[in-house]
Amino acid sequence: MALLEVENVAKAFGSLKAVDGVSFKVEAGEIFGIAGPNGSGKSTLFNTITGIPFGPDSGKVRFDGNEIQGLAGHAIARRGLARTFQRETCFDQLTVFENAEIGATYANEARSGAKARDAAAEALAFVGLAAPSWGRRAGELSVFERKILMLATAIASDPRMLLLDEPASSLTKPEIELSVELIRRIAARGITILLIEHVLTFLMSLSQHLLVLNQGRVLALGNPREVIAEPRVVEAYLGT
Ligand code: ADP
Ligand code: MG
Repeated sequence: MALLEVENVAKAFGSLKAVDGVSFKVEAGEIFGIAGPNGSGKSTLFNTITGIPFGPDSGKVRFDGNEIQGLAGHAIARRGLARTFQRETCFDQLTVFENAEIGATYANEARSGAKARDAAAEALAFVGLAAPSWGRRAGELSVFERKILMLATAIASDPRMLLLDEPASSLTKPEIELSVELIRRIAARGITILLIEHVLTFLMSLSQHLLVLNQGRVLALGNPREVIAEPRVVEAYLGT
């Protein structure tokens, strides 16, 4: 059984069909990539899966066999489905450590006090945010540090699956290489990963399956090397 099953999901904004009948399955343990030109519905698809900030208009989302479409975002997070955002989203006024601590408690009520602090410390060390930075305010960090803090906050919730929305955007080449390595290490922890990226080469090196969206619909789905060679995929990318 697939860990995540998305079936005919749709979401419209007025007359704009941002996600228009999308279906795919993600197996436990894999890195599954989603590509597509800007505005093709990638982030909206993530929103509909995670319920943050909204679920789908129609269609079904099953996580570990249970339907989750229409549940509140925190209820979905509690089942073990965490996400990051395309723009670095942290609690800017709080410290690095407090951000990770919120991650540890948000999706996991059982984790409070010392347990939450341990989970936060472990997640921060894991992404490479060293202890001397833990007292800094998140708002003072660089773009890269904020992105990995967002990852640490998600990891601290101990998710079964993590949805990453363009983790490499606005990063330098060395930072992108560090991010690729970090995503591999997150997968090696046993966390299933659904990864959105506009840059195809980034997805190629990481994902076992690749889905390409265009105008809210599935343009191609399958083995990454075969998918990117499909004429309609090349055309959709050259057209942007
Ligand atoms: P991508 O992440 O692939 O760049 P998005 O999912 O952000 O694409 O957007 C898909 C389409 O839906 C775009 O045309 C975008 O302008 C529109 N859209 C996204 N979010 C909203 C919203 N909250 N209200 C209205 N239109 C939106
Ligand atoms: Mg997006």
